[in-house]
Amino acid sequence: MSEAPGRVVIVGASLAGLSAAKALRTEGFSGSLVLAGDEPHLPYDRPPLSKQALRGLTSADTTLPQPADLDLEFRLGVPATGLDRAERTVILADGSRLAFDRCLVATGARARPWPNSAEAALDGVFTLRTRDDAERIAARLRDRPGRVVLVGGGFISFEVASVCREMDIPVTVLVRDSLPLAGAVGAPLGSFVAEVARGAGVDLRLDAAIARMQGDARGRLAGLVLEDGDRIETACLVVAIGAERNTAWLDGAGLATDRNGLRCDRFCRALGADGTPADGIFAAGDVAHWPNPHDGGALVAVEHWGNAVAQARTAARNMLAGDAAALVPHDHLPDFWSQQFGLTIKLVGLAAGSDAFAVVRGSMEERRFLAVFGKAGRTVASASVDSARWLPAYRAAILEGAPFPPLPGGVDAPARVAMQSLEEPTR
Ligand SMILES: Cc1cc2nc3c(=O)[nH]c(=O)nc-3n(C[C@H](O)[C@H](O)[C@H](O)COP(=O)(O)OP(=O)(O)OC[C@H]3O[C@@H](n4cnc5c(N)ncnc54)[C@H](O)[C@@H]3O)c2cc1C
Repeated sequence: MSEAPGRVVIVGASLAGLSAAKALRTEGFSGSLVLAGDEPHLPYDRPPLSKQALRGLTSADTTLPQPADLDLEFRLGVPATGLDRAERTVILADGSRLAFDRCLVATGARARPWPNSAEAALDGVFTLRTRDDAERIAARLRDRPGRVVLVGGGFISFEVASVCREMDIPVTVLVRDSLPLAGAVGAPLGSFVAEVARGAGVDLRLDAAIARMQGDARGRLAGLVLEDGDRIETACLVVAIGAERNTAWLDGAGLATDRNGLRCDRFCRALGADGTPADGIFAAGDVAHWPNPHDGGALVAVEHWGNAVAQARTAARNMLAGDAAALVPHDHLPDFWSQQFGLTIKLVGLAAGSDAFAVVRGSMEERRFLAVFGKAGRTVASASVDSARWLPAYRAAILEGAPFPPLPGGVDAPARVAMQSLEEPTR
């Protein structure tokens, strides 16, 4: 470690923020360390919120572990409202100011709200991002609502639908597109998830959109009408239509923010509006978008657990780097997992934009397989369903730019390669 910054202020007390704090101490930082967050809770883990936390795990069990000797000052329950770059201070909503030598922006994202605010305010309409959201939804599920409706075709919708089915609660999932998840994991996996969900009793409606929600005289959700005229009776609806990045508090700070978040360079340094690194300011986690070397340097924001941890560690190292020569680039191949309907789905690499897909081990019929995604003749991503044993090998293949389809004759040669062009989605 070179010349140590005296005080580091981390804004956002969640996965990226806490990971950066731990990494700073591991790297030998002995100065003062402040973790400021708007939620009243100690940092906790979000993945269980759409899984175990809805069916009984007490949400306090999701608290992220932290070493006793972290020597961290928490400022919880108060949002940051501004960042004064000239004064090098973070301004909190209670008027207090936190001076810093280095600042890490780790304010993540929030659930995208339902666009009709009157409908969003109905009792029984939820979003799921925080521990408090999960507790509200879990309480409603315990009351056994007649039918739960999920709006949105992403992983959170299917995970919540899975919990509902385990609890034997009728559930409808409304997806605007002709397939769920196709943007993230391609059409074949999207079709697979759709089939599994239907097999578990989910009423999955594709190409479906809500025309209007209906409330009763006491402001409680009573049902909704779809654009095709169908009416669904429900008192519990979870809106899961994506996330918005938490950058509003940076307005006026002269940083490069837009709907994709806070723009960084590959060293996790936040960029100013003029495109040059802002002195002493870094970013990590869901709030950041940066040039990803695994996507030809395209600016990406990766809203996954693994990236938040890896990027926080890189940012921490670079906060302590004495000069530009000591900076290390953030080089993380995206990966994530999902648990639903008794299956564990894992994906490594960037499936979006791939042009071919092959099942190389097991089969979709068995619900146990490993698949590989290709792009322009190279392996770019791999997904496993209940068979993650081979994923590390394919991670290596992706990093090496191995040919696609995987070469026959190798020690791990697949018995059968079922090829499918992604240009012809199946239903
Ligand atoms: C329900 C759910 C399930 C998920 N499941 C998976 C999964 O299975 N696999 C996977 O890989 N990923 C999953 N994720 C994604 C993963 O949890 C995120 O990528 C991760 O939480 C990102 O961490 P972060 O610290 O960057 O941001 P966040 O976790 O969003 O934390 C940001 C923190 O900053 C706070 N904040 C915002 N604005 C301010 C402000 N102005 N002042 C102070 N504090 C502020 C926020 O309230 C929040 O506490 C899931 C996410 C959710 C919501």
